[in-house]
Amino acid sequence: MSMMNQGRPSAPGAVAPAHLAPTVTGNKALMLEEPLIFENGSVDVTGVDLEAVPAHKSRLAGLERSAPIGLPGLAEGEAVRHYTRLSRQNYGIDLGLFPLGSCTMKHNPRLNEKMARLPGFGDVHPLQPQDTVQGAFELIHRLAHWLKTLTNMPAVAMTPKAGAHGELCGILAIRAALEARGDARKVVLVPESAHGTNPATAAFCGYEVESIPANARGRVDTDALIARLGPDVAAVMITNPNTCGLFEPDMKRISDAVHAAGAYVYCDGANFNAIVGRVRPGDLGVDAMHINLHKTFSTPHGGGGPGSGPVVFSEALAPYAPIPFVVEEEAAPGIRGADNRRFHLIEEETANAEHHENSFGRLSAFHGQMGMFVRALAYIESHGADGLRQVAEDAVLNANYILRSLDDVMSAPFGASGPCMHEALFDDSYLKDSGITTLDVAKAMIDEGFHPMTMYFPLVVHGAMLIEPTETESRGRLDQFIEAMRALAAAAKSGDTTRFATAPHFAPRSRLDETRAARTPILAWKPATDERQAAE
Ligand SMILES: *Cc1c(COP(=O)(O)O)cnc(C)c1O
Repeated sequence: MSMMNQGRPSAPGAVAPAHLAPTVTGNKALMLEEPLIFENGSVDVTGVDLEAVPAHKSRLAGLERSAPIGLPGLAEGEAVRHYTRLSRQNYGIDLGLFPLGSCTMKHNPRLNEKMARLPGFGDVHPLQPQDTVQGAFELIHRLAHWLKTLTNMPAVAMTPKAGAHGELCGILAIRAALEARGDARKVVLVPESAHGTNPATAAFCGYEVESIPANARGRVDTDALIARLGPDVAAVMITNPNTCGLFEPDMKRISDAVHAAGAYVYCDGANFNAIVGRVRPGDLGVDAMHINLHKTFSTPHGGGGPGSGPVVFSEALAPYAPIPFVVEEEAAPGIRGADNRRFHLIEEETANAEHHENSFGRLSAFHGQMGMFVRALAYIESHGADGLRQVAEDAVLNANYILRSLDDVMSAPFGASGPCMHEALFDDSYLKDSGITTLDVAKAMIDEGFHPMTMYFPLVVHGAMLIEPTETESRGRLDQFIEAMRALAAAAKSGDTTRFATAPHFAPRSRLDETRAARTPILAWKPATDERQAAE
């Protein structure tokens, strides 16, 4: 070992000498180039040996395939290597800081995974007889209780499968409530800093969306919002903390005015991570709010994996919540759970339950994302109420540490209006006249080994950079990130454009032509033809 250290050729920051030709293989050290399976495989190779199909009479009446399908195959070992190499090109929260604002990419304790894989949960089937899944029902019921308690809301719909799906659930309940009183209204008000899913949801439900401006402090313009209320307004959709990473302090005043105007308050609760255990949205007059279990309650959500967006409801909207839902009931003799409790799934709209009697119907085929429920409950109960409160406090502390460690070299548009919540927002005015853009900075971050922050969102500031460190990052990791960002800001201001214009330089792929990828994607594999070669 010591000899290797003595001969260590490259100090940190060293790069390959410029005169070195690209490697013969295209590999860079042990980062291996990986062609597509269509380029690498061959139609006469396979990882499995199947017996020839015995002669049989076809029942397809001449519709059967006459020529081989031509899909390429790989030998078993090469198939394993293909996917293992690709997996090494992944970046994830288990590798390093993942500062995507508005996404809350946080550590997923392995305990959650272990619990979700317990056979009684992992192998449960939605069509099992209810007597055989009492434990699963009890878990859903218990998680529902936590969510209602943390938000101080009387009802919760567990079936929505993502934040956006939860918004759909909430707006459908609002529409059902308005229609029930014969007052179908037309307009949903959405602050201009809203997440794109908010106006999309309202429009999808048939509402006209009207935008409410933000004020100079990055909050919704409360006076403009209240002035716009009237008999045509069905609901206000407001994100709190908002997408600038700021708390909306006028929330109660807004809710009171919305209710006085006969409308409902939908709160986008995707940013609950910043306030869980500190603020109960029910106390702020919210009527419906989705909670992203995959953000606040620590379940993996990279790569578009499963999410879960339960929606809590106020007393006014609870009767309209969707079915099914779990209730605890008097145990019938002989079928009692271990602790004498029994749970029942209400699946009928005519249910005699105290809430949901005017349910708008069913939102999804079954009972929600069981695996997410298990992970979320494992996370909640291993933290406890005090631990959850600390999650919010640490998330806010980390974001403010980043904000105040960078606001002298980058530009924080709302930095003067006080502390931020769980994410720190910068704009691109510090790059003025440098010829360098937010995108360039993001690409240079990849060279430094950091996944870029959320870019160009929210739209209320120019060239936005939204950095969310989450509570799970250590001081040391934040300091390293800050050091890298300060160096990039200094390089940008000194006109070091080569560092940015073609970044990333050290990634397996450099700057891609995103326009061509979007306009002329190659979606179907064809054996090499002139056309395909021309495209390359
Ligand atoms: C993530 C997010 C959503 C959408 O949630 P999905 O689970 O991705 O559908 C909505 N609003 C805000 C503010 C978000 O951060």
